[in-house]
Formats: sequence, C-alpha cells, structure tokens
Amino acid sequence: MLEDSQRRNALFAVAFIDLDRFKMLNDSLGHSFGDLVLVEAARRLVIGMRGQGQVCRFGGDEFVLIVSELATAEEAQGIIRSALESLCTPFGVDGQEVRLSASVGVVVGPTADSPKAEDILQNADMAMHRAKDTGRDRIRMFHPGMLRRARELMALDADMRRALEREEFLVYYQPVMSISGERTLGFEALVRWKSPTRGLVTPHAFIPHAEESGLIVPLGELVLRRACATMAAWRQRYPAARGMTLAVNLSARQFVQPDIVENVRQILRESGLPPAWLKLELTESTLMGDPETALSSMRRLKALGVSLAIDDFGTGYSSLAYLQRFPVDMLKIDRSFVQDLPREDSDSRELARAIMALARSLRLGVVAEGVETREQLELLAELGCEAVQGYYFSPPLPEAGVPEFLGPSAEAGLPEDEPGQA
Ligand code: C2E
Ligand code: CA
Ligand code: CA
Repeated sequence: MLEDSQRRNALFAVAFIDLDRFKMLNDSLGHSFGDLVLVEAARRLVIGMRGQGQVCRFGGDEFVLIVSELATAEEAQGIIRSALESLCTPFGVDGQEVRLSASVGVVVGPTADSPKAEDILQNADMAMHRAKDTGRDRIRMFHPGMLRRARELMALDADMRRALEREEFLVYYQPVMSISGERTLGFEALVRWKSPTRGLVTPHAFIPHAEESGLIVPLGELVLRRACATMAAWRQRYPAARGMTLAVNLSARQFVQPDIVENVRQILRESGLPPAWLKLELTESTLMGDPETALSSMRRLKALGVSLAIDDFGTGYSSLAYLQRFPVDMLKIDRSFVQDLPREDSDSRELARAIMALARSLRLGVVAEGVETREQLELLAELGCEAVQGYYFSPPLPEAGVPEFLGPSAEAGLPEDEPGQA
C-alpha cells in the first residue's frame, strides 16, 4: 500500500488491447470457436495481472486493463507486459493450437489530475492504432504528439476533400525515353496538389493519408480520367503520340475496389484512348495483400487490353514466384538501384543485372526509374536496359510543358489560315 504522500503522486495506467487478426480466426474457424478463444484470452489476462489491476472486456476482441496506485511508469509497463505474456503463450482450444498476439496502446498519468475517463480511453485507443499501423504485436505508449498528429491528419483530410471539389489536383507527366534519348516512349502520370494554403504539395505528403482515409479512390479515378483524356487529345494532335504509352499509378486501395475493372473500362471508353496504350502500375505489396483476388483482378484488367507494370520493383517482397503467376508485362526498376549503380562496391549493379536477366527470360519490358546522370544512363545501357525515366531527361511536367516531347503537331505542316478568309 502507498503512503498518503505517495498516493498524491501516484500514477494510473490504462492499456487498450486489441487482438491481432482475430477476424481471420473467427472467419476461418467459426464464431463459437472464436468465443472460446475470447473466454480463454480474458482468463489469461486476469492470471497475468496477478491481482494488480482490473481486466475489462471492451467489446469484440478488445480488452482494457486498468492499474492504479503505481509509483512509476516502469511498474505499469511491468504489469501490462506480464498480462500480455500470459495472453500470448500458445494454448489449445478444441484440440487446435492458438497463438494470439495483440496491439496495445497505453496511457500512464498522475491519478491526482487525471483527465476524463473517455479521454483516457480515446488516447489509449489512439496509441493502440499506432501499434497496429506500425506492424501489430507491440505496445505503444500514448504521448501528446499523437494527438497533434491526429489533428494534423484530420485537417489534411478535410483540406483534401475540399481540394477534390475545387479541382486543386493536377496531373503532371514525366516522359519515359528510349535509352538513347532520341525517342519518347510514353509518359507516367503523377498527381500534384496545388493548394492555395499549402502551396504545391508532393504526393509523398498526401498519398499515404489518402490511402488510409480512402480518399485515394476518387482521387485516383480523377487522375486516371484526366490523364486518359489528355493522352487521347495528344494523339489527335501529335501523330507521334499515337505510338506512346500512358502509365498511371493504381494504389492498393483502388485496386481492391470491386468495380475497379468496370471503372477503367468506362474511363477508357469515355476518353477514346485505345486500351493497349494504357499501362497501370501496381506495387508488389498491393499484389501480395491478397494474391488470389489480385490475380483475378489482373486477369480482368488484362482482358480489357491494358498492360500491367510492377512499380518500385526490387524494394518489396521480391518473391520471384509471383512474377510467373501474375500476368505482368513490365517491371520498373526502382530508383534506389539506379542511384547506387555507379558505386563499385554496391550490390545494386548485380541486382540490376539479375532483374534484367529475369525480365528477359520472362519476356517482360523494363523501365529504369530515377535516372539522373549520364553515368547511370551508360551503365543501364551496358545492362541492356532500353527505357528510362528520370530528371536526366525531364522531371514530371505540367500539361503545357509536354508538347516538346510529342514531336510536330498534325497542323504544323499545314498552311495557316489567313485571317478574313472562310
Ligand atoms: P513512383 O510511382 O515511383 O513515381 C516516381 C517518382 O519519382 C515521382 O515522384 C517522380 O517525380 C520521381 N522521380 C522521377 N525521376 C526522378 C529522378 O531522376 N530523381 C528523383 N530523385 N526522383 C525522380 P512523385 O511525383 O513525387 O510521386 C511519388 C509517388 O507518389 C509515386 O512514386 C507514386 O507512388 C505516388 N503517386 C504519384 N501520383 C500518383 C497517383 O496519381 N496515384 C497513386 N496511387 N499514386 C501516385
Ligand atoms: Ca509509378
Ligand atoms: Ca516507382
């Protein structure tokens, strides 16, 4: 027991526990099995707490631990860890071995001036979500920075929704060039946000949040629609553009929309861009989330006549088996390999060589990304790479900057209309 003076300085701790992948367990082994697991999980938390606090079921697969009259934060962590250890020790249910893990958010504070109970729970919940987002199976302590971040994200989200309505998103185009630099092979569409308050915002600052909030779905659709329409217009005006491809990034969240194939079909039809000239870029992690569904969507997209590329190749799972299974047409060698190419001591050259050999044997096209120097370009040429993209030739350009990469316009050779005629 604590003395009076100690009690005045005493701490409390609240831990918000969410079991990892419990839904999967429920879906695969049935709800009654899931119920038994929850009962056992609760029992194990109680045992692990050793009478040093309370265990509550919060709902579903969520539990809350409450510990009070603690002298130090370490003490709180010790008790919570002990409860989790007990929870995560494998156990048997109905002859099945169950191994649980949990994501946990913890709030520790002075009992004397503790905030409202619902605020404490909300903060613990927020820390729990950070634990989930950063890979599950871990404890995250709440700190005020998390609140600030959450507010910033909310503001960003509200700004982005407004920006969609006000058409503040623009599409830039980066040329993909033949390795000699003589021919434009196509363009990659890259989104930009021209915000009246934030300035020109790069995708890194908003795509991850848009992905999380789901806003990437309407945003991605907007980019696809606009890029296809623009490319179709260039094809009308510039004969050489009829031989150029348009690459558009497809985020994971977009790719798993049930109507994604129908959407792409619709947008292609509206724009008049022949499907063969559209290339959709997917990342390895998009495909590996749910390989079966991915495979079926890819087949249906391919059936429309579009081609598929793997973006940032070599940075993700690098599981080669899937390359054979998935109907992919092209790999984009990630910028990180290209950047390291000139360094004699780096593995990048060997890796790039291996990727080129792999692509050749699977008959896949290759585009090297992020080429900035002549030296990188020459090394890529030695490796047999035929298509490159990067600042060496051009940064992503606003629409008005693209014509110099499109060759002469159809009207260029025709005599100008004389004013007053017609
Ligand atoms: P990404 O698809 O890998 O696109 C290539 C990025 O590399 C672009 O950045 C481009 O500006 C940059 N880059 C090109 N050449 C060079 C170079 O020589 N050196 C360097 N240092 N960088 C170069 P950006 O436009 O900032 O886009 C970043 C990422 O945001 C993209 O990476 C893509 O993952 C995502 N993104 C952009 N637009 C869209 C979009 O419309 N939809 C989706 N889902 N994602 C997008
Ligand atoms: Ca890309
Ligand atoms: Ca890339």
